[in-house]
Amino acid sequence: MREITLSNGKTVEVECLSCALTRGEIEPDGGVIVETEHFHAHQDVAYPIKGLVILASKRHIKCFDELNDLEKVDYINLLSKIRKAQREVLGIEHVYYFYNEDTTHHFHTWMVPRYEWMYDFGRSVESVRPVLLHARNKLNNDENVKSVIDGIKALKKELYT
Ligand SMILES: [Zn+2]
Repeated sequence: MREITLSNGKTVEVECLSCALTRGEIEPDGGVIVETEHFHAHQDVAYPIKGLVILASKRHIKCFDELNDLEKVDYINLLSKIRKAQREVLGIEHVYYFYNEDTTHHFHTWMVPRYEWMYDFGRSVESVRPVLLHARNKLNNDENVKSVIDGIKALKKELYT
């Protein structure tokens, strides 16, 4: 078991956070954004950034080459559908995709939107960690959290219609 700190400051103990989320054992803030037979999308539970979507497989796998043919097709279709919704309802022009196979969870892709304030932390991959920490440490206020929840609602509405 490992302890995970959620964006609301609460901690939970799980074997695999992705399993717990995709099985519904942990309810992410704002609930499920969209799900298919093989994938589950939710707001990131650790960092309050509007439109930061995590796309996790339902199967407990770690590496890209473990995806089966059905999952591969489902993944790319869902990823691009979420990306389009981020652009259309949240006005997100650019997204950084991050995915590490040596995760302590299981297969999940981070879709990290780029906002103007993030450029203060530099460009490209080296800015990602400082941006995430800034969000967790400085943006955990009512106003921003409400904006994150509004973003989830807008994405859900777009993706379910
Ligand atoms: Zn898992």
